Formats: sequence, C-alpha cells, structure tokens
Amino acid sequence: MKPSQRVSMRRKKFVKTPGGRTKEVFAKKISKKPICALCKKPLHGIGKGAKTKRRAERPYPNLCASCSRKKIIQDARKRFLSIQE
Ligand SMILES: [Zn+2]
Repeated sequence: MKPSQRVSMRRKKFVKTPGGRTKEVFAKKISKKPICALCKKPLHGIGKGAKTKRRAERPYPNLCASCSRKKIIQDARKRFLSIQE
C-alpha cells in the first residue's frame, strides 16, 4: 500500500476479478465541501480552480457571510471598549 493510500477518506472496496481472486480497490477520494467554522453551514461560491476561487477574498474567509458580519461587529465593539478605557 502506498503512503498516499493510507487515508481514511479513501474507502476500500473488494472486487472479484475474472480469475476468481478478490482484489482490494480504492474508491475515489471523497472531497468535503468547505463549511463555516462557526455554524458549520456549507460556504457558497467556493469552487475549484485558481486560488482566488478556492476561498473568499475578504476578512474571515473561513466564515459564512452572516457569521463574518457578526464577527466584524464583535471586533468593532471590543475595539470601541478598549479605546474608551
Ligand atoms: Zn456561519
């Protein structure tokens, strides 16, 4: 077994060959859809291709739009409180 095949994402499948032997076959890797780090919802508008298409080009690319909005407001509140003191 190659080191690249030692991944839990790859499922083993047993296939009978015409010669009567049973052979181990690896199913294709299952790729996960990127999810929001907070609410675990799938991120929209992220696909394959260039690096700019594989992630959002804004602050908090690992969060969905509504969570990043909340996070920005939280950070602004924190900054405001630290300035006041
Ligand atoms: Zn979210």
